[in-house]
Amino acid sequence: MKNYKFWFATGSQDLYGDECLEHVAEHSKKIVEYLNQSGLLPYEVVWKPTLITNELIRKTFNEANSDEECAGVITWMHTFSPAKSWILGLQEYRKPLLHLHTQFNVEIPYDTIDMDFMNENQSAHGDREFGHIVTRMGIERKVIVGHWMDEKVIRRIASWMRTAVGIMESSHIRVVRVADNMRNVAVTEGDKVEAQIKFGWEIDAYPVNEIAEYVQDVSQADIDTLVEEYYSKYDILLEGRDEKEFRDHVAVQAGIEIGFERFLKEKNYQAIVTHFGDLGALKQLPGLAIQRLMEKGYGFGGEGDWKTAAMVRLMKVMTEGMKDAKGTSFMEDYTYNLVPGKEGILEAHMLEVCPSIADGPVGIKVQPLSMGDREDPARLVFTSKTGPAIAASLVDLGTRFRLIINNVDCRKPEKPMPKLPVATAFWTPQPDLATGAESWILAGGAHHTAFTYDLTAEQLGDWAAAMGIEVVYIDKDTTIRGLKNELRWNAVAFR
Ligand code: MN
Repeated sequence: MKNYKFWFATGSQDLYGDECLEHVAEHSKKIVEYLNQSGLLPYEVVWKPTLITNELIRKTFNEANSDEECAGVITWMHTFSPAKSWILGLQEYRKPLLHLHTQFNVEIPYDTIDMDFMNENQSAHGDREFGHIVTRMGIERKVIVGHWMDEKVIRRIASWMRTAVGIMESSHIRVVRVADNMRNVAVTEGDKVEAQIKFGWEIDAYPVNEIAEYVQDVSQADIDTLVEEYYSKYDILLEGRDEKEFRDHVAVQAGIEIGFERFLKEKNYQAIVTHFGDLGALKQLPGLAIQRLMEKGYGFGGEGDWKTAAMVRLMKVMTEGMKDAKGTSFMEDYTYNLVPGKEGILEAHMLEVCPSIADGPVGIKVQPLSMGDREDPARLVFTSKTGPAIAASLVDLGTRFRLIINNVDCRKPEKPMPKLPVATAFWTPQPDLATGAESWILAGGAHHTAFTYDLTAEQLGDWAAAMGIEVVYIDKDTTIRGLKNELRWNAVAFR
C-alpha cells in the first residue's frame, strides 16, 4: 500500500484584500494541523496554498492527479469563491473529492460581528456556490457538514478517506482465476471487460497445473517450518484420525499456501479464485491455505467467483491498518434458522472462511469434502465475532453491475455444532430475516458475499457511486414496497 495523503484546498478570491487572505490561509493551516493531530485520521492531510484563480485551481488539481501519493482533495470555501473559476480544474481532476462544508468559528460572535467578519467568514455562502458547480458538472463527491473540531465530523472524514483509498486502489486489483467458473452456475459469472472498464480490475485465467507446479516446487523444509507454525498457532482436532496421516494432510495445505503465495507475488495478483471441480495436480481443494492467504490480505471467491474475490480484496484494502479491526471474509449463505425470534442465516463455505473474523480459538480439522474427488482437505474451524457488519454482493445484470449491501447483525449460534467441520458465522439480516432475504432475492443478490465488520454501508456505497454503478441498500429502513419501486426506478436510471 502507498503512503497516501489528502490535499486540503481552501477556496477564496482576491476581492477582500491581502489581510483577509492572510487570515484565510492561517485558518486553513490551523484546521489541517488540528485534523492531523486528532489521531482519528488514517491518512495525513496536506495543506495547500489558497486557491483564488482559474490557473492555480487548474494547476493544483492536475498536480493532485499526477502525485502518486495523493488519494484525494478536500475542498472548503472559506469565503466566496466564484465557481466558474473551478470548472477547468474540476473537469481535469480524476481523484476522489471531499467537500468539507465547515467554517472557522463555531459561534456567531454576537458582540463584535461586523461586515468585515461577514466577508471573511462566509462558508455558508461560498460552499453553496462551489457545491452548485460540482452538481451541475455531475461530479460524484462526498459532502461532510459541521465544525472541524467536532469529533463526529473528523470521524466522517476518516471514514471517507478509506472510501477514497478504495477508489484509488480498485484499479490495482488483479484477480487470478485458477481454471474456469463452476459449470452451469449463473451468479458467479460476469462481464470481465466491463469490470475492468468500471472498476479497473484485471481478471486473468491460468490452467490449474501452472499454479500446481509452484506447489510441487515447494521444498520439504519450507513445508515443515510452516506446519510447525500451524501446530503452534492452532488447536489440532484429530477427532480419531491417525496423527501422522493428519499431519500429512495438513502439510499438503502448507505446500499450497507457500506455492500459491509465490505465484501470486511473482505475477502480481492480489485475489484468487479456485473451483473444487478443476484441481489438476493439486491433491486437495485449497482450504486452510486459502484461509491463511485471505488473512494475509488476499481476496478470494469460491467456484470461480472473481467478482466476490475482487470485492473481498477491496474490503481488505479499505480496512488496512485499522485499529481493532474485527475482520473481513468471503462468505456464503448456507442454512436458515427459522425459529420465531431466533431467525438467522448460518454462514460458511466448503472451507474458505477467513480467520480474521474468528472469535476465540481456531482449530484445524481434516474431513472429507463430500464434493469433488480429492483427499480430505485440512481446514481452519472457528466461530465468528458478534456485532454489526455488512454483507455485499456484486451482480452482473447483463446490462450493468449492481452492488447490494445488507446490514447484518452477527450473533453466536444458540448451540455448538460439533459435527460441522467448517468455520461459520451466524447473522440476522436487517431489517429482519424475512424482509432482508426477500429484498436480497428481489435485488438478485448472490449466495456468495464479501463480508466485513469494519466498513459501513455508506463507505462501500460511496465507493460504488464513484465507480458509477447502481447500489441497493438493505437495512433497517427497507420496506418491500419501497425496494421494489427503487429497483424499478434504477432500471431506468442505469440503463
Ligand atoms: Mn460457493
